[in-house]
Amino acid sequence: MPKPILLSVDDDSDVLRAIERDLRSQYGAEYRVIGSDSPVGALDLLKQLKIRNDNVALLLADQRMPRMDGVEFLQEAMRIYPDAKRALLTAYADTNAAISAINEANINYFFLKPWDPPADRLYPQLDDLLDDWQASYRPAFDGIRVLGTRWSPRCYELRDFLARNHVPYQWIDVELSANDAETKRLLEALGPEAANLPVVLFPDGTKLLESVPAEVAQRVGLRTRAQTTFYDLAIVGGGPAGLAAAVYGASEGLHTVIVEREAPGGQAGMSSRIENYLGFPSGLSGGDLARRAVVQAQRFNVEILAPQECVGIRVEGPYRIVKLVDAGEISCHALMIATGVQWRRLEAPGVDRLQGAGIYYGGGANEALSCKNEIVYVVGGANSAGQAAMNFAKYAERVVILVRGKSLSSTMSQYLIDQINQTSNIQVWAHASVAEAHGETHLEEISVLCSDTNKIERVPASAMFIFIGALPRTDWLANVIARDERGFILTGPDLMHEGQHPKGWPLDRDPYLLETNVPGIFAVGDVRHGSVKRVASGVGEGSVAVQFIHQYLSKV
Ligand SMILES: Cc1cc2nc3c(=O)[nH]c(=O)nc-3n(C[C@H](O)[C@H](O)[C@H](O)COP(=O)(O)OP(=O)(O)OC[C@H]3O[C@@H](n4cnc5c(N)ncnc54)[C@H](O)[C@@H]3O)c2cc1C
Repeated sequence: MPKPILLSVDDDSDVLRAIERDLRSQYGAEYRVIGSDSPVGALDLLKQLKIRNDNVALLLADQRMPRMDGVEFLQEAMRIYPDAKRALLTAYADTNAAISAINEANINYFFLKPWDPPADRLYPQLDDLLDDWQASYRPAFDGIRVLGTRWSPRCYELRDFLARNHVPYQWIDVELSANDAETKRLLEALGPEAANLPVVLFPDGTKLLESVPAEVAQRVGLRTRAQTTFYDLAIVGGGPAGLAAAVYGASEGLHTVIVEREAPGGQAGMSSRIENYLGFPSGLSGGDLARRAVVQAQRFNVEILAPQECVGIRVEGPYRIVKLVDAGEISCHALMIATGVQWRRLEAPGVDRLQGAGIYYGGGANEALSCKNEIVYVVGGANSAGQAAMNFAKYAERVVILVRGKSLSSTMSQYLIDQINQTSNIQVWAHASVAEAHGETHLEEISVLCSDTNKIERVPASAMFIFIGALPRTDWLANVIARDERGFILTGPDLMHEGQHPKGWPLDRDPYLLETNVPGIFAVGDVRHGSVKRVASGVGEGSVAVQFIHQYLSKV
């Protein structure tokens, strides 16, 4: 946490040096002492300090300065830092002006020049002022601040990215806090740049305008570039399956890299509470699981590149090479594909237009708080929808689960159905599907088709979260990796036809259990054809696959 600031302003450089020296010798341990020889320059400096979220404890200005006198300066400075203590340095001849300034312009004190000895004529009074300031001082947030609006898809994307990568930040909704005095001061200090939302302010005073996750990732030190170009094991996808493979692989001596498009944790990272993962009797949040797994992987020196995306693949002799979205490449002996699945799109008018502005796919764990006292719709009848509904119910006035079928019983685990039945502000709307989403700048209403009555009902809705099943996104593997008709990757016995190896298979042995049609390329977790879509199964597959990788590597 940076120390609060004592700012002195005097156009006479000798006096400025002297006051800075005296302030520093007495208060330097607790405060930063800054001097400026121009009141205009000092006002610019204060704006910069405001943008950095620095605290200013004292403004000490000489009364007689060209263009702007001390009282004028302090009055202007007060608009930026109203809580800073304000004092004037005056010559004896200006005593009357100083006294009236105290009365009329909210100046706290005036000091006569020269102030020697400071132990008598400066420090006791300043001690009083600073004690007073300390009593109401609340340290400002010392980290990244994001300015934006709730309904902006770009702001949502950035916040979601930061939250899922566990980057702490302070969110300032410039619309909701438009009447907050501190927000107004910050926006004033930013000037016209404040219109380029989302604005990200860093503690060193730098900022990104209209910022996107990749830019922020670089600034906060998330690694997106590989340290070397060759690895024993490269893993695409940092969900539970990929992370487990990385921990097992690296702990057994394999030089391992994970490439992750969004944030380590995968789908599990979006889960508000996983209740069926062994060893956590009271459940744990997906974010927590992801954070622990990342720490564990890093302990074994796994390199995690995020955000970074694999967009192509090729095989050159014993080398498996993945192409990255930024045109880089990584080559390896063994490649593991653990890219999971992505939400299916909801096909209804208005949904695409309002995505990120009240309509979200998955998500929830990070958004629940912003739905306080609102009516939230959750679309889908599987466990992921049930968990999200339970989480929203803690904050929302009412949560409505829309399901196409006649109840949840065929799609959701009984323990979740029981919890939902016991939660008074959750309502299950059966035989219901979204026909249209309405709203100008953000979601305001939805039309719901009731299949039992064949009628459409239009209801107010401020947020809708969609959990309607998922599909793999594996087009980038086309022509190299064998997949089923829905894009899930075939492995092991699923590749064999009447005892025959898959087309182009170059070895005498059969593909290993989790191996694809290319030797040395493995697929684990939700992306694999026939996989059980659970955290524990992903973790299990990722761990087991490492044994096959060792067998494969022993013959390369
Ligand atoms: C909201 C929710 C709640 C859930 N609750 C539970 C639960 O309580 N219990 C349970 O057992 N299961 C639960 N699940 C299911 C569980 O999360 C998944 O089965 C599990 O996460 C699958 O792990 P995975 O590693 O195979 O894939 P994923 O978790 O999907 O991870 C795949 C990762 O690969 C990345 N990726 C994709 N393509 C690329 C690319 N081209 N380049 C780089 N990276 C890429 C993705 O960004 C993603 O991070 C839940 C799922 C959701 C969505």
